[in-house]
Amino acid sequence: MLSKLCVGLAQTASRPLEVRYLMRHASLLAHPQTHHLRLQPRLRLRLRGIVCREDHCCAGQKTVPSREEHIATLKGEEFDVLVIGGGAVGCGCAVDAACRGLKTALVEADDFASGVSSRSSKLIDGVGSYLATLLDKKDLNQLYIMVQMMNERATMLKIAPHLTRVQPMLIPSYSLLGAPLTWLALKIYDFISSASNVRASHFLSKEKTLYEFPLLKTKGLRGGIVYYDGQMDDARMCIALVMTAVCLGASVANHTELVEMVPQDGCCRVVGVKDKIADETFYIQARAVINATGSSTDFIRKMDEETTAPILLPSVGTHVTLPRYFGSSTYGLLSPSKDKKDPTIVMVPFENHTLLGLREVELDDMESPQNPPPDPEDVDCLLDAARERMAPCVELERFHVLSAWTGMRPTVSCPSGKREDEEEGDRSAVSTYMLEVSEGGLITLAGGRWSTYRVMAAHAVDLAIEICDLCDDHITTSWTDDLELDGAQGYCCMLPLELVQDYGVPMDVAQHISDSYGYNGHAVLSQAPDRKGRLHPNFPYIEAEVQYAVRNEYACTLVDIIARRLRVAFVDAAATLHMLPKILKVMVEEKEWQEEQATQELLKAQEFLVRQMGLGSIVRPKSMCPNKQETTVKATPEGCCCNIPKRKECRSFSSIGGTSVRSVASLASSFTAHPPPVSKLSALPWAFSSGITHSSVESTSSSEPQPITRKKGKTDQKQDLILKFWRKKFIF
Ligand SMILES: Cc1cc2nc3c(=O)[nH]c(=O)nc-3n(C[C@H](O)[C@H](O)[C@H](O)COP(=O)(O)OP(=O)(O)OC[C@H]3O[C@@H](n4cnc5c(N)ncnc54)[C@H](O)[C@@H]3O)c2cc1C
Repeated sequence: MLSKLCVGLAQTASRPLEVRYLMRHASLLAHPQTHHLRLQPRLRLRLRGIVCREDHCCAGQKTVPSREEHIATLKGEEFDVLVIGGGAVGCGCAVDAACRGLKTALVEADDFASGVSSRSSKLIDGVGSYLATLLDKKDLNQLYIMVQMMNERATMLKIAPHLTRVQPMLIPSYSLLGAPLTWLALKIYDFISSASNVRASHFLSKEKTLYEFPLLKTKGLRGGIVYYDGQMDDARMCIALVMTAVCLGASVANHTELVEMVPQDGCCRVVGVKDKIADETFYIQARAVINATGSSTDFIRKMDEETTAPILLPSVGTHVTLPRYFGSSTYGLLSPSKDKKDPTIVMVPFENHTLLGLREVELDDMESPQNPPPDPEDVDCLLDAARERMAPCVELERFHVLSAWTGMRPTVSCPSGKREDEEEGDRSAVSTYMLEVSEGGLITLAGGRWSTYRVMAAHAVDLAIEICDLCDDHITTSWTDDLELDGAQGYCCMLPLELVQDYGVPMDVAQHISDSYGYNGHAVLSQAPDRKGRLHPNFPYIEAEVQYAVRNEYACTLVDIIARRLRVAFVDAAATLHMLPKILKVMVEEKEWQEEQATQELLKAQEFLVRQMGLGSIVRPKSMCPNKQETTVKATPEGCCCNIPKRKECRSFSSIGGTSVRSVASLASSFTAHPPPVSKLSALPWAFSSGITHSSVESTSSSEPQPITRKKGKTDQKQDLILKFWRKKFIF
């Protein structure tokens, strides 16, 4: 029987290597205890890769269990490991546990990667902060961390080649002494990383530096030092992790929040979760529970042990997206801070735009773990710092910002073991990550960075196996360093060309599909042959992606699509507003939404853009700029100089809150000169572009979680003002 199956499987394999692999692992096919055919996880994933390719050859279909099927499994079965939180760390834990053969479940309160894991600087950081701490505090421990990080960077580039790439970073040098010192530090970095380093750092002359970054300040510039880091699409990476866990047999559910921990004696734990889509609460049984909830860490710890002292040291980081011409198409820019007030500036190319970060503000207290709205003051501070690094003739104003967002960094201190009321004095942050086991057996995993997710996950699952006695004959050690993520199997750099030839899509669309889905790009395009239309003329996103996200990636809401499946909300908030009707149309067909639900979804998406992406308060809707004026870059005797034409109406927008309100309103009114009745909205896609109606605004604004209270309250007031104005203006 076994040998027959093996020959059958070997015939399915498309490459000789796979045939050899299958034959060699044939003995693993039978589970020693049950004598039932039970595929070892490693083989199961391999086979799935083959099956996907075979499917593509035949019908191009790719199917995954539906969300409802996952929920049914979560309700009815007992799990070895339950992971709470679907960010980088939680999804990493689910992949790690599932790949070892543990029966794994994961629940996420909102959408996968809806926390800070979709809001990072997108760097697979090998050097930055660690090198700085090493030099600042002479902490040699940082050396060890750096080596580990560099190994991780190499691993991420290997296991997800479609979502990651080597990113050259340029550090401009303005001082005679600074250049050799930075160069020396980077050479030490090259030496330590040796095996895992992607490329050696080198010096760039002043001319070449300006060639790459024509807008840089030329006065005093000595040249630039280039080192190599990694870059990733963070949210899509998280989705790839979820889908890999699903391939390995894990049960996952987004929009399912942990609401209760039922005290139990012994190792098995029961937790209550709320399915927000079906609006029902049910219980999940698991032998080990891992708390990987990022900025909600303390809320879950308190649910487990009410008197426990908090460990989170929250801070909020702000990023903005700018047009591509403010950066370089190849190089990223890292400009260290000069003093405490001056933020370190990072500029990286992302989705054909330039991402500018990072302004970080520590929070005094945290009333809610939700990401706060971007604060115009923080954005201005970021723009000021960027402007200071650019030639005096460069005009960089708030109206250039296409999207602005914040992310809450889940930095933690070491748990003191004391109760909350006994805690005293300052807590200092742990430099890497923290693992804690509570008296009730809850494993908390917090801190770290995106790029440490795999190491953190392996560590936590090792601990879970040890303390919950999960060891079994078929449980393996972690092998995620060798596990290609979903979409990576079969991927090669020629994939865009393959997509152009097979499906007749334009090259920019093919490149985007290949970069976002890897080999699954075939499934995206073949599943929806009649949905190749663009969602916006200026972007490569197409309708087929929406269908794929709903059917294959558990997208449940309009926000899930614009923020985590397509990255357009982070790239251009105003363009996203224009895309909403088309996305909604596909979702209505796929999800069979009734008119009322469609309207609700649309308004939640619009509110997300206003509250979370700075639309209106920071980002100026496009229709306010009727005369498109491009930046011109010209050569001057001192180097290159940039001239961006001034626009008076834009300035007033950035400086006066009232003007910004008027701008948004005028955009909206341009779409709703004669608003149709609500019942006709679904038939008129353009109506959704503004789409604000009396009933929908009322209901969505009350259901959305309130922004957290920060030291500064101006943003919230301004956002509320905008919403109030919208409401007043569009009560029909
Ligand atoms: C501004 C900024 C820039 C950064 N840049 C980088 C970078 O360039 N490179 C890098 O490596 N790292 C970077 N980081 C760090 C990195 O983003 C984070 O360390 C990492 O994403 C944390 O992932 P996480 O899974 O712990 O948290 P999160 O992504 O926040 O995930 C936690 C999840 O738990 C869910 N959750 C909460 N409560 C519940 C509940 N009750 N039930 C179920 N689910 C729940 C949340 O909805 C959330 O999705 C950056 C961080 C910030 C703030």
